[in-house]
Amino acid sequence: MKKITLIVPCYNEEQALPFFLPEVFRVAEEMKEKAEIELLFVDDGSKDKTLEVLRSFAEQDKRVKYISFSRNFGKEAAMYAGFCNAKGDYVAVMDADLQDPPSLLPQMVELLDSGEYDSVATRRVTRAGEPKIRSFFARRFYGLINRISDADIVDGARDYRLMRREMVDAIVAMGEQNRFSKGIFGWIGFKTYWLPFENVERVAGETKWSFWKLFRYSLDGIVNFSQTPLSIASWIGVLFTALSLIAVAFIFIRKLCFGGSSVDGWASLVCIISFIGGIQLACLGIIGQYLSKTYLEVKKRPHYIIRETNDEDADRVG
Ligand code: UDP
Ligand code: MG
Repeated sequence: MKKITLIVPCYNEEQALPFFLPEVFRVAEEMKEKAEIELLFVDDGSKDKTLEVLRSFAEQDKRVKYISFSRNFGKEAAMYAGFCNAKGDYVAVMDADLQDPPSLLPQMVELLDSGEYDSVATRRVTRAGEPKIRSFFARRFYGLINRISDADIVDGARDYRLMRREMVDAIVAMGEQNRFSKGIFGWIGFKTYWLPFENVERVAGETKWSFWKLFRYSLDGIVNFSQTPLSIASWIGVLFTALSLIAVAFIFIRKLCFGGSSVDGWASLVCIISFIGGIQLACLGIIGQYLSKTYLEVKKRPHYIIRETNDEDADRVG
């Protein structure tokens, strides 16, 4: 029988978990003829009682495995730890707050079983219940990143997707430090079926993403999957060099034809100098962004450190 591993990243989810587990088991019961479900919870250094809840889940049911990090490493690291340690033939990432409906699983499994696809991904078709400004910036972000990056990133795509082993192995092989899963999923390719669904609100607890956290995450996504900002910086340099050459020629010819010296115009000079200075700093900043990513990358630090787990085979550091 097929084994499905559900990776569930949890950060301060003690309130949502008691709703999550019964719902997953209900769906597992529905599909018990076809597949066996195993849960791999990743406690991402929670500060509440998440770990206690997970321990008691594991005691009640041997389908529950958990990994607990030594501190908060972020959802990306939690997903990576899940992928590294998932043993199922099919693997899915699922949020602990029931915003990724487990009830879609049977349909997803059927689609994979048909053999035509390597993964079934989900996409929210509405953003109901989300702050307007957040939706607005999210749309702009997806528009922008798809124009400037070679990874195909779908608007409204969630990290919730069911994948074949081959695809999971490819993700694990992408060992980069700066992880942006939506980009990684798109970059590795494979055949993906997109399953649309209506946005569901979180069952309990609060979102872990503030607007600024999301904003920084989207900048990471751009820097990780596109070199376009670097070329923009170079093109700005070329443009200003050309402009200054034209200006030199203009002043030179004017001097030859009309003579005299001009002393006024210092205000416009100051404006031009500070404008160009600003652009230079901005371009340096762009280069700095890429350099800092490179710095983190060459240090080759582990993505996560496990403090406690009930899975003897888990890699403690990975
Ligand atoms: N999460 C995590 N580490 C973090 C932040 C979030 O593992 O540092 C988990 C969180 O527990 C949840 C999932 O990532 O299962 C999605 O988080 P959340 O629901 O807060 O995000 P939203 O759905 O609002 O985008
Ligand atoms: Mg959520």
